[in-house]
Amino acid sequence: MRIANLSGRLVLIVGDRAVDVEQSSDGRFSAEPQAVYERWDEFRAWAASVDLPEGAAFEAVDLGSPAPAPRQTLAVGLNYREHAAESGFEALAGLPPVFTKFVTSISGPVTEVKLPADGHTDWEVELVAVIGRRAEGVSETAAWDHVAGLAVGQDISERVAQLTGPAPQFSLGKSFPGFAPVGPWLVTPDEFDDPDDLELRCAINGEEVQKGRTRDLIHSVPALIAGLSAVLPLLPGDVIFTGTPAGVGLGRDPQRFLAPGDELLSTVEGIGELRQTFVA
Ligand code: ZN
Repeated sequence: MRIANLSGRLVLIVGDRAVDVEQSSDGRFSAEPQAVYERWDEFRAWAASVDLPEGAAFEAVDLGSPAPAPRQTLAVGLNYREHAAESGFEALAGLPPVFTKFVTSISGPVTEVKLPADGHTDWEVELVAVIGRRAEGVSETAAWDHVAGLAVGQDISERVAQLTGPAPQFSLGKSFPGFAPVGPWLVTPDEFDDPDDLELRCAINGEEVQKGRTRDLIHSVPALIAGLSAVLPLLPGDVIFTGTPAGVGLGRDPQRFLAPGDELLSTVEGIGELRQTFVA
């Protein structure tokens, strides 16, 4: 099953068409996309049983994040060995670094992003998991049962704000407006042959800069949910950015950052793509 946020309304994606959930459920489920995660099991059962109408054509530019207002967004750093190495770190024992992307940075899949002045704005394609059931002290074995679905994410990062100062400012450097595009829709885990092995790719103006597979995550999605939920409850609708593979601009020689006019394309196998254009 695929759900999306079309112009602020919850829709089911059927083929290449969108079915409005509030209308086709006669008001049983709200049009508000974020609200569906509170009743995720009930919603899934309804969606699996109902005869849906044909739906309407839509444009990707009208999509918002399928989880536009999570109570918590957790983002994980240094979760692929080659990316940890290019960032100057050994692969770390224990939980990886965890920060947040503040909720105002979340956007839909096709956007224009303003580059912060005097910044070094970098790209990080990531698999994003959205929580569908409250997870507290969940084991790795039970972790996938707490995931509503997966989406493509971009952890856009301004490195000067992130790394300057007496202590790193990961959360601020990664939370400028539009720095957390998520989408184009949410795909439930049962749609994948293996949700633990998906290819991620990222290209700038057609030139591939990142290519990895989620099987190379140091901490898999289940391991992250187990580790994070041992510390704090993960709530329905919470968003987890799971880390980026190698190939970011910071780790290049010479370093490279996004410039006005650049178009960033981020893809995850079996889900879809994000498209960001950058302006001064
Ligand atoms: Zn990241």
